[in-house]
Amino acid sequence: MPDQLHSKEFKNNFVNMFNGVDEVSRNPQQTPGSLYTRAMPSAVSNPKLISYSIDLGEVLGLNSTLDSESIEILAGNRVTKTMIPYAACYGGYQFGHWANQLGDGRAITLGELERKNQIFEIQLKGSGRTAYSRRGDGRAVLRSSVREYLMSEAMFYLGVPTTRALSLVDTGDKVLRDMFYDGNADYENGAIVARVAPSFLRFGNFQILFARGEAENLKSLFDWTTNTFFSFITSSGDEKVVDFFREVSKRTSKMITEWMRVGFVHGVMNTDNMSVLGLTIDYGPFSFLDNFDPTFTPNTTDLPGRRYAFASQPSIAFWNLQRFAESLMPLMNDHQLLENEVENFKSYYQSDYFKMMSNKFGLSHFDSEEREFLIEMENCLYELEVDMTLFYQYLIDIERSEQTKDATIKHFEDCFYSKLSESQEREFYNLIKIYKNLLSKNSFGHEESCQIMRKSNPRFILRNYLLHEASEKLESGDSTLFDELYEALKNPYSKNGDKFFKKRPEWAEKKAGCSMLSCSS
Ligand code: AMP
Ligand code: MG
Repeated sequence: MPDQLHSKEFKNNFVNMFNGVDEVSRNPQQTPGSLYTRAMPSAVSNPKLISYSIDLGEVLGLNSTLDSESIEILAGNRVTKTMIPYAACYGGYQFGHWANQLGDGRAITLGELERKNQIFEIQLKGSGRTAYSRRGDGRAVLRSSVREYLMSEAMFYLGVPTTRALSLVDTGDKVLRDMFYDGNADYENGAIVARVAPSFLRFGNFQILFARGEAENLKSLFDWTTNTFFSFITSSGDEKVVDFFREVSKRTSKMITEWMRVGFVHGVMNTDNMSVLGLTIDYGPFSFLDNFDPTFTPNTTDLPGRRYAFASQPSIAFWNLQRFAESLMPLMNDHQLLENEVENFKSYYQSDYFKMMSNKFGLSHFDSEEREFLIEMENCLYELEVDMTLFYQYLIDIERSEQTKDATIKHFEDCFYSKLSESQEREFYNLIKIYKNLLSKNSFGHEESCQIMRKSNPRFILRNYLLHEASEKLESGDSTLFDELYEALKNPYSKNGDKFFKKRPEWAEKKAGCSMLSCSS
């Protein structure tokens, strides 16, 4: 029988297991020796439920409509008897530098729900100050909350490993933000997203304990994490550490491969935003690629170095895993074992990536000839400013027999952001000819190859300009676009969302919040 959220019995595994500060605090403080500090959501004045994921609610055993007491919980205005809310303590490398203690500055975990032998941590994002808020207010604005709410669900339905979003609440309170970091702060609507994942553990939870030399806490976090989420690992001692790391590494490789498949750029791949479970977490200044641009970073803070650009994501993941491995060294006698395993990420990723790419192109194998073609094709997509999503869709329907240049260009004409020169048209045409030749040597039949391509190439992606428009409209009381996007994202491989099957409009290219974003949220 489905329940209301307020009648659910929450577990408090994390709080019960570890050392922490057991007094609720909202004052910024360093918490050495602690893996968490007790927290309490700060009340909001006039909460309204904007959206609720009935599907995720069902997974959690919740009713399809929430009563007012449950909504109060999601707004941070009510805490039930079985909840022991806390903010986790973690550190992180931000933009390549160790930033020391960070922690849940505006996320509060209410507790864990257990259902069908699965654990679900329920966390409110934007519910007020914690011990880790530093100078922040612990709040989130509606525009960034709409982005996290819709995007985490969009990624879920795309089949990308991710945390999920249960609800979006307008708090009725205003929040002061300097969106462009130019001294012009303004009030915006505040909101709270309830996020759900088996755990929000990050590389940074381990790293802070390593940095502080807290060997015992590190050992208990390792034991608990492996027993709870990696119970299939049966080894012990050094071997267990290596087996655990290998699993994190493989999951990270799968996650990044999926980002590359759908054209997702996270934007802030700091180690405090890297999930130990290999999930996409902390949706901030992310973006899908519109025109295929490997150098694109959506994060204005990242512009000088483009550290977190689309094509850099695999190597940054590797760098992050190296930093993660360092934090596990105190658990081992023979460090060399782990150092060897760290290097294996490259081969996990290579194999995941080329398998994914062969599916994207509907090819049965992806050897040197195909890899060479891929490099040239991607260079061409970049240089000619081709829309990534549209390109792969039109590629599925391509005429398999020989065609003229003009017919080929016409078939793809909706994909180009700029007018092609004669030589560009020729370059594109020649590559499509090479592709057709690869197809002809393929062991998949025509229909089989199309089917694989349809499953591997999304037709609907949640473009930044759509998110921007949806939240602007929502602020003015019109939820039509928000609702349409929420529907479309549930079937991203179908034609259901074809209303949005077009490239980014020109007006959105330079507009703030549509292409580039700041971390202000
Ligand atoms: P992010 O870049 O969003 O991953 O955040 C980095 C760190 O800043 C995390 O520890 C967040 O909890 C904290 N943080 C970000 N925004 C706020 C805010 N408005 N109030 C308090 N802490 C924040
Ligand atoms: Mg974060």
